[in-house]
Formats: sequence, structure tokens, C-alpha cells
Amino acid sequence: MSKSFLTDLESSSKNALNKKAIINTFIDQGDLPIAEIAKEMDMSVPTITKLLGELQDEGFVVDSGKQETNGGRRPSVYGLNPEACYFVGVDIRRFRVNVALTNFKGEVIKVKHDIPFLLENTPASLDQLCVIIQTFISKVGLPKEKIKNVAINISGRVNSESGYSYSFFYFDETPMSQKIEERIGCPVSVDNDSRAMAYGEYMCATNGEKNLLFVNVSWGLGLGMILNGQLYYGRSGFSGEFGHFHAADNEVLCHCGKKGCLETEASGQAIYRMIKEKIENGSTTSLEAKYKQNTVTMEDIVAATLHDDVLAIEMVEYVASTLGKHIAGLINIFNPELVVIGGGLSMVGDYLLLPLRAAIRKYSLNLVNKDTVVRLTKLGDDVGVMGACMLARSKMLNHI
Ligand SMILES: [Zn+2]
Repeated sequence: MSKSFLTDLESSSKNALNKKAIINTFIDQGDLPIAEIAKEMDMSVPTITKLLGELQDEGFVVDSGKQETNGGRRPSVYGLNPEACYFVGVDIRRFRVNVALTNFKGEVIKVKHDIPFLLENTPASLDQLCVIIQTFISKVGLPKEKIKNVAINISGRVNSESGYSYSFFYFDETPMSQKIEERIGCPVSVDNDSRAMAYGEYMCATNGEKNLLFVNVSWGLGLGMILNGQLYYGRSGFSGEFGHFHAADNEVLCHCGKKGCLETEASGQAIYRMIKEKIENGSTTSLEAKYKQNTVTMEDIVAATLHDDVLAIEMVEYVASTLGKHIAGLINIFNPELVVIGGGLSMVGDYLLLPLRAAIRKYSLNLVNKDTVVRLTKLGDDVGVMGACMLARSKMLNHI
């Protein structure tokens, strides 16, 4: 990417806005001939030809060859130059991190799963995260200036505009994004993990659905919303706090400080608490040994369920029906085309999905829920890291 390109796009000139619109058209629709771009943007062919010429000179767009047609003149097709710039996505979990590198086209160049990490609200944990990102970037072997954004997903309250994460790494008045940026030397953005997952599913695994709810059932419980094709943030970026719906009179103190939040009944940690109570009351389970060592993880709960551990299956079913009941409420409010279930617990598949669907049918308005497909994420464990990479690109384009 040449400097002149950035200088031009940084301005709010009409020319710059039109070029960004062309880039976004390629992101949405892939490679296109000039006539179709002109039609899509409602602009003349000569104007699009001029803008495309500038984008080519600046290195962002390439001529991808002639389009296959049934005879007649074959038009040239244009698209994003995959090597124009790159993005890093970082998906933080409780005990591990997934990191990926994508090119300007959004193609995955490198992905590293399950890098050991301990998410704690401490400077040491933040330091460990910076080392993981620095190591990944140094191994991809690209000049740093080619990496235009490193987007990080973290659970809890995040204001992606200001770069503050309020639930983790809020030690002083410096935003989390700035702290990491100073360490790694690349632009950094942060976002809530469930929101990034919703964006990953929307960008990489949907068929034109514009209204989507992504329910992230992991150790905690979160919600990301795509409404009318846009990520919904709310006033300060705190939208989607589904886990802190008051849902039970259970006297269980939530980590948010309140009692009876939905997360205390429908999440990985809820399953852990219930299994603990059952073990203490004499129930048997394959998780008992791990429980005694105090090392039960989400992955252990998933493995126990998939290996027919009856107690784990019962707890997953309980969580599924509790969750389904409250998702039914969301369906009544939002009338979405798609409800996607993801996060660590979704790895149990039908053990979660079938009772959840049954509860949704039971508790939502029939006419409303007929519009909605409820399914598991198609991206599995990669949904978060893909969302981060897609958000990195989107934020770069929005902020230059
Ligand atoms: Zn809570």
C-alpha cells in the first residue's frame, strides 16, 4: 500500500468515500466486472473506471482476468489485491488463545489454535497475551507495516470505540488497545467476544441473512447481534449482556455482583456448579477425579457429555432448556432470521441443540418462531478468531 493511498483515503473527500465503497462492494460480493460495480454503486462506468485505476495504482485492487461468458466479449473482472495488507485476529478464552492471520481478501493465511494462556485480570496475564501476539507476528514473517490491525476478542464489557475493556486489564486510564499497541507496534482494536463471533458467522457462514443473534455459551454466556446487516453495539458498546438477565431466584451470586443472573443457570460455570453440588451429594460422574483436582474445564464437560456421562448430559439438557426459554424471549423481541449457537458448550452438538429447540418452540410465539432458523455455528471453534480478523479489516476501513 503506497502512502498516497492512505493519505487519500484518510480524507473525507468524495473520491476517498467512493473508493472505500468500491472496496466494501468487493468485500460483500467478491470480484466483479466494471459494469456491475457501476450498477451496484449507481455510478457511471467512466467514473468507476477512473476510481478503479487509482485503486490499482495504489495497490489495493487487481485485475483478476477475464470473466467466463458464453461467447461475446469477455469483460475484465476486478477484485481486492490479497497482498495489499494483512490482519491479525486474537480470540481469548479462559485457558487458551486462538490467533489467525488473514489477507485483504479475508483468506486465512495462518492460524494457530489453543495457545496456552491464563485469562486473569492481572498485568502478568496482559503481558503473557502481548508475548503470544508478538511471537505470532514475528513468525508470520511480514513487515509490521503490512499488518493494518490486530483485533482482540475478550469477554465482558468492552467499548470498542475507546479501546477500553472494563472487565479485564482495566488497571489505569490507558485503554487496553493502547497498552497492547505500544507493546507490539501495530494498530490494535478490542471488541467483546460474543459480538466478534456474531460478525464472524455473519461474514463467513451465512447466506444473506441480515438479522442474526449469536448466542455464545461458553464458561460464561454472551450475545452478539447483527441487525439489518450491522453489528449492534448500543450506546457505549455494552449491548448483548444476555448472561446478566435476571432469570432465577437461586441465591447464586454472579461475578457481576448481582444474584440470579441467567449465566448462573445456563453456562459452563453453571454446569460446573451443579455437577459440584451433585458430586457432594453422592452422584457419580467421570468428572469426579478432575473435580477433586479442581481442574474441570469446558473441554472436560464437553468430553464427558460426548462420552455418555449421564450426569453431564443431564446438566447440558437443563442448561439447554433454560437457555431455550430465554432465547424464545429474544426471538419474540427481534424476529431474527437466524439464531446461531456457538461457544465452548456448543461442541456437544445435538445434546444442546435439540432440547434448546424444544424449549424455544414451547416458549416463543409460534408465528414469530416460524421465521427463525436455530442452528449451531458452522465455523466451530474458529468463529471467534475469524470474527476478529473480519472486524480488524472492517475497523481499518472505517477508521482511515
Ligand atoms: Zn450477572
